[in-house]
Amino acid sequence: MFQALLIDKTDAGYGCALTELADDRLPAGEVTVRVSHSTLNYKDALAITGRSPVVRQFPMVPGIDLAGTVEASDDPRFQPGDAVLLNGWGVGEVHWGGLAQRARLKADWLLPLPAGLTAWDAMAIGTAGYTAMLCVMALQAHWAAQGVAPGAGDVLVTGAGGGVGSVAIALLARAGHRVVASTGRPHEADYLQALGAAEVIDRATLAAPGKPLQKERWIGVVDAVGSHTLANACASTRYGGAVAACGLAQGMDFPATVAPFILRGVTLYGIDSVMAPLARRRTAWQRLAAELDRALLARMTRTIPLADAIAAADDVLAGRVRGRLVVDVNA
Ligand code: NAP
Repeated sequence: MFQALLIDKTDAGYGCALTELADDRLPAGEVTVRVSHSTLNYKDALAITGRSPVVRQFPMVPGIDLAGTVEASDDPRFQPGDAVLLNGWGVGEVHWGGLAQRARLKADWLLPLPAGLTAWDAMAIGTAGYTAMLCVMALQAHWAAQGVAPGAGDVLVTGAGGGVGSVAIALLARAGHRVVASTGRPHEADYLQALGAAEVIDRATLAAPGKPLQKERWIGVVDAVGSHTLANACASTRYGGAVAACGLAQGMDFPATVAPFILRGVTLYGIDSVMAPLARRRTAWQRLAAELDRALLARMTRTIPLADAIAAADDVLAGRVRGRLVVDVNA
């Protein structure tokens, strides 16, 4: 038997509860993992609350991330005792996920836990931090091709107080960039500056409809917010700059014009973590292990037990969580 969050949708409605499950209920897969830690990402919060149709099969164990130890494996790439990590691939959406003490998964989805990271570290980073790294990698490749050096101009990070935003600030600042953090929580300015933000701006300045072309400010943007914020970020990106769009915390819409793209040569990169190829994941995780300051990671992360994850989902969607939430599934 193992404990898990279980989401179900019946005539009585949509619900998520902490449940005891028999091992034979685990789905098909080559590798059985004893999960030690999972996380609560924005997407997990949407799944747990049912606010968006993230879950596409019922009943479903949520949790798009997990870290733990291989218990049994039918695949030669993994042996019992191996420390492993998983992000995305539809886990927690169409295949039972990480907010449980056990998971059974396809071997193709698993990565060995990168050297230098504990299971807690990996889940403190989670999909949010790994996506922040994918955004940083896209921007850095762009800047390298354009001959733009760190420090050549400001980089904007939106949704700064959240998981993607917090990790993006820490990574970009360490790489030598002057980071401007956009937040709706000005009282968190000290926190954002401790992560490496040189300047903190009120997200309200980006949240409303704006002009198609605005003052050129950013050599690059990591946007976790979408909607008018993304449109304004594109409209205020400098000639030849780039925007990495990964999120929709403000909205899924993109009420923009083509002006920044055709008049300033701005490039918009779409960042997807869920189906990202294994090679890119490995690079992202190796770089996170090497470049993300562990003291800052600890500062941006709170650990909660599995039983608290359902209540915490509301806090995530209400924007009340600062940085990252690790779920200790055995606490
Ligand atoms: P999170 O920790 O909840 O952070 C989201 C942040 O967005 C909040 O902390 C808040 O920051 C800001 N925000 C919330 N509501 C807002 C609103 N109405 N208008 C403007 N800003 C708002 O979530 P996360 O895990 O970092 O994820 C961020 C976004 O990226 C989500 O939309 C998520 O679905 C997406 N995501 C996508 C991928 C991918 O593969 N593309 C992967 C991971 C995440 P402040 O309080 O500082 O303003």
